[in-house]
Amino acid sequence: MATVKAIDKSSVHRICSGQVIVDLSTTIKELVENSLDAQATSIEVRLKNHGLELIEVIDNGIGIPGQNYEFLALKHHTSKLSCFEDLTAIESFGFRGEALSSLCALSKLTVITSTEEQAPSGRKLEYDANGRLAKTIPTARERGTTVIVQRLFESLPVRQKEFKRNVKREFAKALTLLQAYGIISEDVKITCTNQTGRSERITILTTSGNKSIRENFANIFGAKQLPQVMAIDFQLNTESERLTMVDAIERDDNSQMEAVIQVISKVFNEVYKTYNSNQLPFVVADIRLAKSRYDVNVSPDKRTIFVHDEKKIVDVMKNQLIKAFEPFRSTFSVNNN
Ligand code: ADP
Ligand code: MG
Repeated sequence: MATVKAIDKSSVHRICSGQVIVDLSTTIKELVENSLDAQATSIEVRLKNHGLELIEVIDNGIGIPGQNYEFLALKHHTSKLSCFEDLTAIESFGFRGEALSSLCALSKLTVITSTEEQAPSGRKLEYDANGRLAKTIPTARERGTTVIVQRLFESLPVRQKEFKRNVKREFAKALTLLQAYGIISEDVKITCTNQTGRSERITILTTSGNKSIRENFANIFGAKQLPQVMAIDFQLNTESERLTMVDAIERDDNSQMEAVIQVISKVFNEVYKTYNSNQLPFVVADIRLAKSRYDVNVSPDKRTIFVHDEKKIVDVMKNQLIKAFEPFRSTFSVNNN
């Protein structure tokens, strides 16, 4: 009988990393969230060959101080959380310290960064597959951070082949995700560009750092869509807890309907259907709940979250939605005929 032994550390690291960084979208999501956590007001996602060759996220955030260079790509190393109790008060997107460490195991990771004090000089940091700092090179850099991911999934050949085969679909999925961050991030300019081969770099998406979700929406989907957009502002329990929905009624496919909380899209679809059965709704839901009410630590990508009193929130939502749509009942039924 074969002996039970421990798998070597770097294999374990690679296996686990493939669960944190699943595809192009999760890579971009993690890097953009890091930039948002660093209070960036401008974030550029620059891809080469739709991300197959290069994914670069450039921000103007607070930068990384020298004492963190050595640790930032090590597994479970984070500047955002130090003990379990902090988790209930966490304000940042990240806190698990897994993204950069995983990217090291799956690609070639380089970081260029500078803080307010260091600018206009900065450091270029190169990391090895285990997340150890391999090289520090002085370089010019304004305040902010650039994270460079080269040859994603090179160390997971099957995954890399899949990525190559589905690159257009992966890219489209990543764009949908960026659109969501573009809409929801007030006062942050988000841009995405791609260069294929030697052809010219093309801007795929850009917002202008607007103050409101409505304006971001217009940037992304075109101002033409705005008149059809209806904003529904809900008061949930307290002043700080709210749910804003932006609904564009003229959409006839629901490919964008990737709600973070599926329950919410279900409620929305149900209510909407009773007023307008011809079209599918397009919804942007901006839900703000008190920190003590939810737990995002269910899966690494935080796509599943536990919400305390979920049913109560959903009920409030449903009632408010019915109220909001009531005045449009006749309009919709005329349209439907
Ligand atoms: P987490 O976000 O959970 O802390 P990451 O692996 O994504 O883990 O990042 C590790 C650390 O690297 C962060 O805690 C932060 O200190 C630093 N970091 C990563 N990206 C940036 C960035 N764009 N700007 C400033 N600091 C960053
Ligand atoms: Mg992070």
